[in-house]
Amino acid sequence: MSDYDLIIRNGIIVTSDNCFKGDIGIKEGKIIEITAQAPIKDKAEKEIDAVGYHILPGLIDTHVHLNEPGRTEWEGFSTGSKSLAAGGVTTFFDMPLNSNPPTINKVGFELKQEQAHMKSVTDYRLWGGLVPENVSNLEELHHCGVIGFKAFMSPSGIDEFHHSDDVTLFKGMNEIARLGSILAVHAESTVITDQLACQKQNEGKVSAKDFCESRPIISELEAVRRVLSYAEATGCKLHIVHASSSKVVKLVTEAKQRGIDVSVETCPHYLSLTVEDFTELGPIAKCAPPLRDTEEVEFLWAAFANGEIDVIGSDHSPAPPNMKQALNGNLFRAWGGISGAQSTLSVLLEEGYWKRNIPLQRIVQTVSTNPAKRFGLFPTKGSISVGSDADLAIIHLNQRFTLKKEDLFYRHPHSPYIGKVFRGKNVTTIVKGSIVFTDG
Ligand SMILES: [Zn+2]
Repeated sequence: MSDYDLIIRNGIIVTSDNCFKGDIGIKEGKIIEITAQAPIKDKAEKEIDAVGYHILPGLIDTHVHLNEPGRTEWEGFSTGSKSLAAGGVTTFFDMPLNSNPPTINKVGFELKQEQAHMKSVTDYRLWGGLVPENVSNLEELHHCGVIGFKAFMSPSGIDEFHHSDDVTLFKGMNEIARLGSILAVHAESTVITDQLACQKQNEGKVSAKDFCESRPIISELEAVRRVLSYAEATGCKLHIVHASSSKVVKLVTEAKQRGIDVSVETCPHYLSLTVEDFTELGPIAKCAPPLRDTEEVEFLWAAFANGEIDVIGSDHSPAPPNMKQALNGNLFRAWGGISGAQSTLSVLLEEGYWKRNIPLQRIVQTVSTNPAKRFGLFPTKGSISVGSDADLAIIHLNQRFTLKKEDLFYRHPHSPYIGKVFRGKNVTTIVKGSIVFTDG
């Protein structure tokens, strides 16, 4: 009998700080051998010939909304996790708000956990929520095993998940610090966005550009500055999600230099789409914070290149097609959220590796190694090393393809990337030694 369940031979292994040709031996879901010089001598029942392919640690998508239970008609763990797997993701973190009940207490956690366990084809973790009503439930959620807590500083769009006023944030962050957990925040200023949105709509200005102007970068900066102050005052570990601008990233970098324990995420759409794309594509490209201009996209890539962006999350936020319509051309009225979970790696390879010479190692850092380290999963996840989970994405770096609607595994196969040509395709995804996706 072989010592291995699976051997992957002659692939180019890419880690967060290395790139070399070698073999990977897998047994009972773990990587048990990696050879760079000589091939693994033994044979395995199953072998993959990876000549010409790159092998990455499986992606960890820290930010998805799969909406189950309660809004499974929007997405769900089955369709959502299949899409993620097709994009090379081996672990996702599901956000607490779009499910019903939301994940704001033990009961909500257990209901979601049951569904996720039954239906997910990849590994996963669940976020808990921080809302004004549940500061006293944070401890039970922590003991349930949430990966961290998520709060909104402006309305979430979901009636069952209220945004946190400053007192809630402060109290919640004190408690989360005591528990040794981490708070992720959607940071936009309610005062600024509400006032500007009212003004725009009263004047009948409801285009894509108007929507973007009602949520300016300053609204993110104001909220981020405020929550950084609370992090400084409480000692709570902080994670800023979906920063749309390099100015937000700079604030986080400065805070790190002052000794605040903070990290920052951005999303593939802020690195590849602009207000002009939103105008052209319509509600399919609506998100909050909104898309910015071409210059901002380049500034964000510069921050990515120099390592200031810790994490890339898809913020996959799907909704049924009837909610992604702008009645009478009013972009304020359509659901905000971009479906993108399947395309994260393709966007980063096309826009980053190919167009802007971003090294593969840097991409691996942001989509896998850094998330694993930040959320306590490293080196079991986020690493190709002996003893790690055999969570891998095998990619064909040179393969060109045009994304088609039929390629998408989402419940509702809409995406701003349909019709876009990408170079670099995930062809096989392995979760704990099992192949969960192969191209075609
Ligand atoms: Zn989100």
